[in-house]
Order: sequence, then C-alpha cells, then structure tokens
Amino acid sequence: MSEPLVIIGNGMAAARLVEELSVRALGRYAIAVVGEEPRLAYNRVLLSAVLAREIAASEIVLKSAAWWRGRGVTLLHGHAAVGVDPHVRRVRLANGATLPYAKLVLATGSRPLRLPLPGMSLPGVLTFRDLGDVSAIAGAAARGRKAVVIGGGLLGLEAAYGLARAGAHVSVIHLMDRLMERQLDARASALLKSAMEQKGIMVHLQARTAALRGIRRIEAVELADRRILEADLVVVAVGIRPNVELARTASLEIGRGVIVDDGLRTSNADIFAIGECAEHRGTCYGLVEPAYEQARVLAQRLAGDARATYAGSVLATNLKVSGVNVFSAGDFLGGPGTETIVLSDPGLDTYKKMVVADGRLIGTVLYGDTEDGLWYLDLIRSGASITKIRHDLAFGRMLAQRAAA
Ligand SMILES: Cc1cc2nc3c(=O)[nH]c(=O)nc-3n(C[C@H](O)[C@H](O)[C@H](O)COP(=O)(O)OP(=O)(O)OC[C@H]3O[C@@H](n4cnc5c(N)ncnc54)[C@H](O)[C@@H]3O)c2cc1C
Repeated sequence: MSEPLVIIGNGMAAARLVEELSVRALGRYAIAVVGEEPRLAYNRVLLSAVLAREIAASEIVLKSAAWWRGRGVTLLHGHAAVGVDPHVRRVRLANGATLPYAKLVLATGSRPLRLPLPGMSLPGVLTFRDLGDVSAIAGAAARGRKAVVIGGGLLGLEAAYGLARAGAHVSVIHLMDRLMERQLDARASALLKSAMEQKGIMVHLQARTAALRGIRRIEAVELADRRILEADLVVVAVGIRPNVELARTASLEIGRGVIVDDGLRTSNADIFAIGECAEHRGTCYGLVEPAYEQARVLAQRLAGDARATYAGSVLATNLKVSGVNVFSAGDFLGGPGTETIVLSDPGLDTYKKMVVADGRLIGTVLYGDTEDGLWYLDLIRSGASITKIRHDLAFGRMLAQRAAA
C-alpha cells in the first residue's frame, strides 16, 4: 500500500517536489497537498509581470487540475493547516479535519514583513506576496494616484514599476544608500536608480519611514527627517520572514527558518522542509532556484536514494523591469584575495563586473547587457578555471570561447 505523504503549502517548492516525485517514485506515496491560497499553485516569480499587465493571472498557473489528478494527488487548496502532532502523525486543518501522514513535508514559504510603525494597519497599506495582493494593488492603483513603495530591493522596484505602468505617481523609499544593495555594487545601483527615474519613479535613498499617517485610510508617509510624502496607497516591500508557525506546533528545531540537514530532514525524522521556510547550514533562501534544488534532492531521498545531498546554492538574481537589464550572481563585491575585472561603457549604458579568486570566477554584476548571465553563473557554479579565457571574459561567452578554442 502507498504511504501517506502530506505536503503543506501549494507553492513553487511543493509543485516542483510533486513533479520530481512523479518521475522517480510514482505510486510509492499517496500524496496530499494542503494549501491556504484558494487556487492552483502558480509561478510567484511572475506576479510582477501580472501586476505590470504584461501577462494575465491565468497564464502563471504551474500545473493544470488535470495534471495533479493524473498523478493521483489529493489537492486541498483553500485549506490552512493549523497544527502538526508528531506523536500520532497527524496534521490538523483549520476546518477541524485531520490528515494522517507517514512522511510530512513543510513547504510553507515566507510571509512579507511589516514595519512596527504607527499606521501600518491602515486600509491602503499593502504587501506584495500573492495573487490576492496583486489584485489589491492593481485595484488601488488608478491613473494619477499617488503610490509610495517602502523598500528598494527587487520586490519593491518591481512593485514600483507595475504601479507606474498603471499610471500612478510612484515614489520609492529606501533605507540604504543604494538600491538592491544585496545584489548590486554601488555603480550598477546608480545606473539602476537613474533608469528607474527615467521611468518616472522618484527614488529617495537613505530615507527612514517614521510613520504612516491617515484617518480612515492611508494619506501620507512621514519620514524620519520630517518630510511628508502624500500617498493614496503604500506597498511595503521590506523583506520576508520564513513561515515557521506550523513547524512550531510540531516542536521542530527552528532558527530563522525550520532547520534542516543536507537531506532536508528537520529535527523530526519523518518531517522535511524545503523552500523559503527552510534553513540549511544557517541560510534561508529567498529565491526559487534553491527551492527547486531542494525539491529535487528531497524527491531523490523519498524515492530511496539515501546518498542524495543538498549542499547549498549559488544565488543569482534578475530584475524583471522591462528595458532595465540587471543580473547578479555569487560574491559580487569581492574582498581580500580577490581581483576585479570591470568593463564599463556609459555610451552603451553597459556595466560588467567580474570577481575572480584563485583563477576562478566567484561573482558577477551585469547591467545593460545581461545576455551572458547564465553562462557566468555556470562558470561560478562549476568553479572551472578561467585562466584561458580571462582576456575575453568580460566581453562575453562568444568571444571568450572563441579565444579558448
Ligand atoms: C513578486 C515576487 C517576485 C519574485 N521574483 C523572484 C525572482 O525574480 N527570482 C526568484 O528566484 N524568486 C523570486 N521571488 C521569490 C519566489 O517566488 C520564492 O522564492 C518561491 O515562491 C519560494 O517557493 P516556496 O514554495 O518556498 O514558497 P511559496 O511559493 O510562497 O509557497 C508557500 C505556500 O504555502 C502556503 N502556506 C503557508 N502556510 C500554510 C499553512 N499553514 N497551511 C497551508 N498552506 C500554507 C502559502 O499560502 C503559499 O501558497 C519572487 C517573489 C515575489 C512575491
């Protein structure tokens, strides 16, 4: 008989896990997926494109209902899991039902952070995490409205772009002295700032939000230096926190996320965690590629391969703002013992930076021409020697490979 395998969270990691399991161990498990969002799993990365009206919400569904049915998966979407009792191996749902499991996978993702400031719960103050948020932002963002985005990271800038496309007057408030400081160096960041400004988006750097003001709904954002920005809506994009509430009910070991080993196993031998809710070797990832890598390794484990190991991921980021190409991967800042190769052409609006250590590429930032981003990422991941292609490395794949041939 098939063992009951319950997956909590019908997001990107869960969908990939089922896909990987269906090719490796179809029939071995009776799979149930529980998700609190009232819809089929979708590609969350493309929410920005939906907000910018570049694609429709219906186009981002990952797998059709027939696909899930065809793999014998019981889909319980629109149901939140509220507790796990490891002693009797059961998951409790919000509607009072319980589900038995032999193996349990937590894939509960993250929750957007809100700031502990006055006015944060006023109507018109929104976050940007799911399709419900996209509908709320799009509904509030009519032409001529004043929108303030708090947070100049990837999500904040993509939200700002979507709002500007809807005709809103948009300002971005960012605490740090440069945009996307976790992915870009100062130079790329400055280029990005002027590109956003050319799209009509005002950028305020080193700006600390002090309070959100309004009587019945949001009316303005007050900064610590007393400046007031009028606002008909505010999008808060200041970061995410791994969603560990359910793991707590099972008394699992928790750091920032649910702590897992190289086999994605939590402190309970029958419970696993993948995706943004998991913490592996001290790191919680906020991108989809690590979630997919973890899903593959966990599927191998669940299919019986006890040697399958997840050793961590090299991160790469791509900003999805039309006409603004930005790519960053690995250790793009460098430090002692590293060398930096820079190719900069302001006329072509292109900037490329490669960080090299011990004859290997360890990080890159690309602005403008990002076409070879994945090739650089492969070089970083493989740790291949770049000695033979160093001369032409910054000029991109074609030239570098021709030179090496
Ligand atoms: C606007 C936006 C743009 C992004 N762009 C990029 C990008 O360009 N590149 C990139 O790599 N990443 C990007 N990301 C991040 C990427 O979407 C996430 O890394 C990825 O979705 C993580 O997958 P996950 O399955 O761990 O979490 P999620 O996809 O968030 O899935 C978790 C699911 O679990 C559900 N859940 C939580 N608790 C419970 C419970 N108790 N019971 C039932 N269900 C529950 C949640 O409702 C959610 O549906 C972006 C994210 C957003 C919001």
